[in-house]
Amino acid sequence: MSYQTFYRKYRPSDLDDISGQKAIVKIIKNSLKLNRISHAYLFYGPRGTGKTTLARILAKNVNCLNLEDGIACGKCKNCLSILNGNCPDIIELDAASNNGVDEIREIKNKVSLVPTELKYKVYVIDEVHMLSIGAFNALLKTLEEPPEHVIFILATTDIHKVPITIISRCQCLDFHRVCEEDLVNRLSHIVKLENIDIEPEILRNIANISDGGFRDAIGMLDKLVSYTNGKIILSDFEELNGVVSLNKKRQFLKIIENKDIQSVIQFIDDIYNDGKDLILFSQDLMILCRDLIIDYYSYEDTNYDIEFLLSFVEKVNELVISLKEASNMRILFETRILSFIYQNGLSGNKTLKNQFTQENSFKNGSSVEKQDVIISSVENDISREESSVDKSDDSEFYRRNAIIVNNCFCNASKKNLNFIREYWGKLSDYALDSKYGAVACYLSDATVRAASDHEIIITFSYESVVTRGFRLSGLIEELLYKILGDSYYVSFLTEKQWNIEKNRYIENKNSGNHYVYQSLDLKDDSVGNHTMNSDFPSSESIADEAIKLFGENIVSVNE
Ligand SMILES: [Zn+2]
Repeated sequence: MSYQTFYRKYRPSDLDDISGQKAIVKIIKNSLKLNRISHAYLFYGPRGTGKTTLARILAKNVNCLNLEDGIACGKCKNCLSILNGNCPDIIELDAASNNGVDEIREIKNKVSLVPTELKYKVYVIDEVHMLSIGAFNALLKTLEEPPEHVIFILATTDIHKVPITIISRCQCLDFHRVCEEDLVNRLSHIVKLENIDIEPEILRNIANISDGGFRDAIGMLDKLVSYTNGKIILSDFEELNGVVSLNKKRQFLKIIENKDIQSVIQFIDDIYNDGKDLILFSQDLMILCRDLIIDYYSYEDTNYDIEFLLSFVEKVNELVISLKEASNMRILFETRILSFIYQNGLSGNKTLKNQFTQENSFKNGSSVEKQDVIISSVENDISREESSVDKSDDSEFYRRNAIIVNNCFCNASKKNLNFIREYWGKLSDYALDSKYGAVACYLSDATVRAASDHEIIITFSYESVVTRGFRLSGLIEELLYKILGDSYYVSFLTEKQWNIEKNRYIENKNSGNHYVYQSLDLKDDSVGNHTMNSDFPSSESIADEAIKLFGENIVSVNE
């Protein structure tokens, strides 16, 4: 038998084998048990977190003839046909390898034909965000009225490149990064079955660098096994991964703390010439700092200055983000570390903190002390807000957001936009409010892009800021009601997404692509199952309406 990678060999074969995605497994299991299968799913999340694996399992389980408690029997004729791998009713398409227009057309033509063997025909489209606009439009048409016997499972690592019109027609499931413990457990399981002799702490190191993905973690174990003869020890791991040893990392922190510029330059030179990965090194430094900070608070015991650690970890975090886009990593790394040493002076983290408050202050200018209060209240409120939200609800946020964007485009007008912008400044009145201070601060960074009578689209520069808005939307809408005297649904986009959606809207409007922007009722539970609220005007009349209302102004909306 040919060699199989561990990742393939130990790929979960049914729902109970899947680890790290509890909420999703529960949702899928329940819908199988209650026979409430959606006709379109969108699985999104980082690579290697189990999207394709779950898609295949779902395709099998919906078709199993003896399904028990949501788990497939593995023995019936449908299960066997699928397990053999050549079943014509399971169609997998990788959008990354082609733009998909022909394939999607083919799907569109054949979608109405009943399955040849199974109960359901299942289309799995991986990396769906890579489809071209033409393919998306063709897909959308199919998703609008999928035949009873068809299920679409779309998977993507980048949900923000998927048109909102697609998102709003799917049941979206958010695959989280897998936590360290789940990764280590999975690795330990494989180590045991394969009889691998390995120092246990290495599994934790692998989990640490694999960024929450099973594929990377298990792939790393695979590589280590091929790399080593006999027992796998820590230095094998470090050599293979260009990892800097713990002692050297501690040494690096010390020379930075001591402002020993010469040694710092020499150190960076050495690790660079040794071929170490600077991103990995920076991430490791953050982990080390975190451990040292926790040690400090647990035992008040550390060889490092606590303020130094706190400000350094913040700096390295920014550095990691920048390194991923740097054209010359070494220069960026070196200059950022040196500028930290110069700027910080290591007398505390005041410099960074002041910078932060200035950037976030309102134009009418409250005092720095007040801003400190606001910022700590923003942080508290946001973390409280975030922790109070059940993580498994995440998928609904995207769908809700997509629907609001959609509806706003349908009914936006310049008059509404001007009205909202005029009153937006009133947010600063609430900056010190104990209940709304946090969201007032949050919104003050937003740009209002479009508005209808009941929907607003706002944009931010960064993705993380956008998703934060999802969780705050209840409070945000309450506050806006106070200021605007009417209720509005708010949707959140990055600048980049705004441009994409706006252009798509204009393009569709110009080409008379009437089915793309249909109103979907936010309160209508059946949206995910593709039934339109019949009270809504026909799609054609909405398109006409949109042109009338949004019309020539759409270009001037964009600034
Ligand atoms: Zn079966």
